[in-house]
Amino acid sequence: MGTAIVVGAGIGGVSAAVALQRRGWQVTVLERAPELGEVGAGISVWPSAVAVLEELGVKGVEKSSVQSQPAGMRRPDGRWVVSAPQLGMELPVMIHRAQLHDLITAEFKNIRHTKPFGMGQVTVRTGYDVREVVQDDDGVTVNGELRADLLVAADGIRSAVRSTLYPQYAGPRYSGFTAYRGIADIDLDDGGGETWGRGQLFGFARLIDGRFYWYGTANQPAGTTSEPTVFESWHDPIPRLIANTEKILQNDILDLTTPLMPFAQGRIVLLGDAAHAMTPNLGRGACSAIEDAGALGRILAGTDDLHAALAAYDAERRPATTKLVKRSRSVGRVAQTENPVLCTLRDGAFALGGKLLKLRQR
Ligand SMILES: Cc1cc2nc3c(=O)[nH]c(=O)nc-3n(C[C@H](O)[C@H](O)[C@H](O)COP(=O)(O)OP(=O)(O)OC[C@H]3O[C@@H](n4cnc5c(N)ncnc54)[C@H](O)[C@@H]3O)c2cc1C
Repeated sequence: MGTAIVVGAGIGGVSAAVALQRRGWQVTVLERAPELGEVGAGISVWPSAVAVLEELGVKGVEKSSVQSQPAGMRRPDGRWVVSAPQLGMELPVMIHRAQLHDLITAEFKNIRHTKPFGMGQVTVRTGYDVREVVQDDDGVTVNGELRADLLVAADGIRSAVRSTLYPQYAGPRYSGFTAYRGIADIDLDDGGGETWGRGQLFGFARLIDGRFYWYGTANQPAGTTSEPTVFESWHDPIPRLIANTEKILQNDILDLTTPLMPFAQGRIVLLGDAAHAMTPNLGRGACSAIEDAGALGRILAGTDDLHAALAAYDAERRPATTKLVKRSRSVGRVAQTENPVLCTLRDGAFALGGKLLKLRQR
C-alpha cells in the first residue's frame, strides 16, 4: 500500500478516504472549506450505494434514514397522476446530508482509536486550497509541498484538478433550471412524493427526526437569485413546507454534458462530480460518488500495479456513470418542459405506465 491525497471532502472524497484507509493506505484529505461538513438538506441514497457504505464499514445509515414511501406523482392542483402502490419499484432511503457525511467521517475516528491490523490512517486538513497538482513517474505533488503515490480528485463539479489534467475539456453546462432545497420543521400526515408542473417540479420526503426534506426546481436564466414563489399556489402541503423552512438553499443545476475521458491519468484519478456531475433528477450523483469510492478501494486492493488499477477503475465506472449523466439529463428535460401539449402527453404516459404496472403486478 502507499500514500494517497484526496482533494475535496464532499461525500465522494470522504468515502474514498475510508475506502483507501480500509485497504491500508495512508490518506491525507485536503478540503478548501474551513470545516468538514455538508449542507442542510436531505439526500436519497439508493440500495447500491447503501451496500457500498456497508462494505466500507460505515455504520448507522439504516438507523439514521427513512425508507422512502412509494408516494407517486401529483399535478400542481393535487390530483394524482400515478399513486404510490402502483409503482412497485426499488426505492432509496432518505437521510440528512450532514448526518450521512458525519457517519462516513466517523470511520476516520473509529480507525484512529481502534485501528485493526492492516488499516491505514486518514489525516484531514481543512482550509487547504489545492491550486497546483504536478505528477511525475514516482508520485504527485500538491502546491509544491505535499507528495503522495496517488491523488484522488474529488473536488466537485468545478474541479481544479480536472482543469489541470484536461485543459481543453468543455466543463460544466447549465441545465436551464435552478433548484431550491430546504428542511421544514412541520408535522404532516403525507407520504410525500413529487408534483410535476409546467417547467417546475416539487418533491418532499420525511426524515428520521420527523422533519421534511423538500426540493423544487424552476426554469430561469443561469445566475438568477430567486425565491420559490412559484409553488405558493400548488397543492397542500407544499406552501406550508416552504413557509416552515428556516433556510432555503438555491443552486443552479449544471452537469458534465460532454463525457470526460478517461477518469484517470497517470497517478491521478477523478471521482464523483469532478468526473461525472449529473443533474439531480435521478438522485444518483452522490450515490455514484460513493460507488466510485467503493470500486476504487476494491480494485486497488486486487493489484500492486497502480496504473492497471486506475485503468480498471476507468473501465468500470466511466460507462456506468456516463449512462446516468445522460439519463438524468433526459429526465430533467421531460420534467422541466413548459410545453402544455408535452406536459399533457407526459402525465398521460405516466398514468398509463402506472396502470400497466398495476396490471402486471396482479
Ligand atoms: C439540488 C440537488 C439535489 C441532489 N440530490 C441528490 C440525491 O438525492 N441523491 C444523490 O445521490 N445525489 C444528489 N445530488 C448530487 C450530489 O449532491 C452530488 O453528486 C454530490 O454531492 C457530489 O459529491 P462530491 O464529493 O463528488 O463533490 P462535492 O460535494 O462538490 O465536494 C467537493 C469538495 O471539494 C472541495 N474542493 C473543491 N475545490 C477544492 C480545492 N481546489 N482544494 C480543496 N478542496 C476543494 C469543496 O469545498 C467540496 O467540499 C443532488 C444535487 C443537487 C444540486
